[in-house]
Amino acid sequence: MAVILDGKKLREKLLTELKTKVDKFTIKPTLVVILVGENPASKIYVNNKKKTAEKLGINSEIINYPADISEKELLEKIGELNQDKTVTAILVQLPLPKHISKENIINAISPSKDVDGFTPYNFGKLFSGEHPNVYPCTPKGILLLLKEYNIDLEGKHAVIIGRSNIVGRPLSQMLLNENATVTVCHSHTKNLEQITKTADILISAVGKNIIKGEMLKSGCVVVDVGIFKDADGKTRGDVDFESTSKIASYISPVPGGVGPMTITSLMLNTVELFEKNLL
Ligand code: NAP
Repeated sequence: MAVILDGKKLREKLLTELKTKVDKFTIKPTLVVILVGENPASKIYVNNKKKTAEKLGINSEIINYPADISEKELLEKIGELNQDKTVTAILVQLPLPKHISKENIINAISPSKDVDGFTPYNFGKLFSGEHPNVYPCTPKGILLLLKEYNIDLEGKHAVIIGRSNIVGRPLSQMLLNENATVTVCHSHTKNLEQITKTADILISAVGKNIIKGEMLKSGCVVVDVGIFKDADGKTRGDVDFESTSKIASYISPVPGGVGPMTITSLMLNTVELFEKNLL
């Protein structure tokens, strides 16, 4: 049976260490989260972020705008937060309503307060092999989890399924930095199973139950990023746990794997930006 990559346990460890660090700060970091509209999932996410920040002693504020706020108003608010010296980290919760350009909004965040690492400056740094101010939260959490279990990435074939800007694309660069050989698959990939069978490390970020044990090489490491509700309302990942856990050497569960690591990375990034801005 595969060893479980326990994101909850690692979250406890890393956040305990982080709290000790934050306790020593005389001025605390301040994370501002902008939420537009009433998307129930987004509300849960931003409230969890605020609660976790507060437990660590990080100041946190949620600014909730109605769904019909104009792009101009939102841009003005981001401009104001960029100038506000007491605000050290800014996060705009996605998705945004259709009338607002996600690109324009992300581009407006100061790279030194861009806690998600999504601005063109930070993304560009990552893709040119330099250090961004911070690394995007979900890929960062995945690497922290793999490192905690001493999983060697050097020279390994890492197969990522999904090429979004929040997971697959930045993760591909971060795995290249670790000297893995990286293949990125997506909805147009042909013969997916032939590729997954060659993976030493398989990371799936799709949002559909697409990975079964027979698609894997014996002993591979499986990281399940997907989260969705099935027809019975149960939380599921991309990976069929039962068949996969018999083939894999390590597997991250859903829930309790990558999810807790994403919020942990957000807190780590908030403190990293705060420390960098003090320099
Ligand atoms: P996304 O933007 O919808 O991207 C999904 C990716 O999957 C796309 O690249 C898509 O290909 C690819 N895809 C779709 N069907 C496929 C198929 N049959 N075979 C191969 N590839 C396929 O989603 P996302 O934002 O990256 O999120 C992905 C999943 O991860 C979701 O379930 C999300 O909830 C979860 N997630 C979890 C965390 C966490 O903290 N645990 C964080 C972020 C996301 P195309 O590009 O060709 O469309």
